[in-house]
Amino acid sequence: MEKQKKEGKTRFIGLTTHRNEPEVIRAAVESKVYDVVMTAYNFRQPHRVEVKKAIAFAAESGLGVVAMKTMAAVYWDRKRKHPINAKATLKWVLGDKNVHTAVPGITAFDQLEKDLSVMEDLTLTPEEKASLKLGDKLAQTGLYCQQCEKCLAQCPNNFDIPTSMRSYMYAYGYGNLFEARKTLETVNMAEIPCKSCRTCQVTCSMGFDVQKKIIDIARIKAVPEEFLV
Ligand code: SF4
Ligand code: SF4
Repeated sequence: MEKQKKEGKTRFIGLTTHRNEPEVIRAAVESKVYDVVMTAYNFRQPHRVEVKKAIAFAAESGLGVVAMKTMAAVYWDRKRKHPINAKATLKWVLGDKNVHTAVPGITAFDQLEKDLSVMEDLTLTPEEKASLKLGDKLAQTGLYCQQCEKCLAQCPNNFDIPTSMRSYMYAYGYGNLFEARKTLETVNMAEIPCKSCRTCQVTCSMGFDVQKKIIDIARIKAVPEEFLV
C-alpha cells in the first residue's frame, strides 16, 4: 500500500476495525503507515470510553477518523417494534470532536433527511438522551454484537458465536437477509451444537441469550434464495 501511495495511485491509506477497536486504532497510529481509521463507534459499546480515547489519540496524531456502526443495529428488539433513535445516535457520535465523519447506512430519502438534519445542531435534547436508554426501560439487550469474542472461549463446542450474532444483527437489525445468509455461510454449520446443549454456558458481554439467537438465525440457511430480499 505504501508503494501504491508513493506511485501516486492512492492519496490516503486507511484501515477498518469492527473489534478490539482501541488496540487496532493505536496500532494504526503507531505504525505510521495509515492516514485514516474507520472504526465501530456507538453509544452501546461497553468499552466506548476506551474507543473514545483511542480516537482522540488518532486525531491528535493527524489521522482522519471515520465512525461506522453508529446506529448500533437500528432496533432494540427482534420484532422491530422499537427503533433506536437514529438522530440521537448520530449526534452522540458526531458530538465527539475527534470524529471527522460518519457512514450511517441510508436506504431511503427520509433517512437521508434525518441524517442531514443532525448537521443543524449536534446538541442532544433531553428526550434524545432519554431515548438512548430506552433499552433499559424495555429490558431489551438490543441487536448490536460488539464482536468482542469474549464468548468464544466459553463455548465448549468452539462455535463461532460472533459471526452468528453478526448474521442475526444483519437479519433483524438491518433487515438484510441476503447479507445475513452470506455471513452465516462462513460458519461451519453442518450441525448446530446449540440444539444439543441443555444449558448454554456462555455469558455474553451484551447480555444476549446466544443459544436462542443461534437456533433462530440458523433457520435462514433453509430459506430459498428468492425470498432473501
Ligand atoms: S456475542 Fe456477545 S460476547 Fe460474543 S462477540 Fe458478540 S457481544 Fe461479544
Ligand atoms: S448452546 Fe451455548 S455453549 Fe452450547 S454450543 Fe451453543 S453457544 Fe456453545
